[in-house]
Amino acid sequence: PSTMSEKEAALAAVPSDSPTIFDRIINKEIPANVVFEDDKVLAFRDISPQAPTHILIIPKVKDGLTGLSKAEERHCEILGQLLYTAKVVAKQEGLEDGFRIVINDGPKACQSVYHIHVHLIGGRQMNWPPG
Ligand code: 5GP
Repeated sequence: PSTMSEKEAALAAVPSDSPTIFDRIINKEIPANVVFEDDKVLAFRDISPQAPTHILIIPKVKDGLTGLSKAEERHCEILGQLLYTAKVVAKQEGLEDGFRIVINDGPKACQSVYHIHVHLIGGRQMNWPPG
């Protein structure tokens, strides 16, 4: 279907460059189950996991990257680091039989947090096409 269900519409949020809940996680103001951290990126378990492994990988500095659609050439390095971290964490999580990477962008993709994040999902059989 081309239109969002009520549930999907409720999950999606209006795009904005305001601080998000992820800033509070980065600043340790609210707890998160962190699985990987370096000076540039943070990876932590999703609070509402859609699979046995569901991890979010985010840049510690948003620098205008509310979502992938806002990427500029200066973001190429951090974008690579987010994907590379997904690979490292997938191995750490034992996902040798496969995993999925998702970046939701914008209301039609049900993006709900406007601080770019890579979903790393695995530990069960995935389906295609996605919902
Ligand atoms: P999006 O829908 O924007 O692609 O993904 C946002 C994700 O962030 C969702 O999967 C949601 O469950 C997760 N999330 C939202 N708030 C929190 C939180 O406070 N802590 C954690 N760990 N995950 C969150």
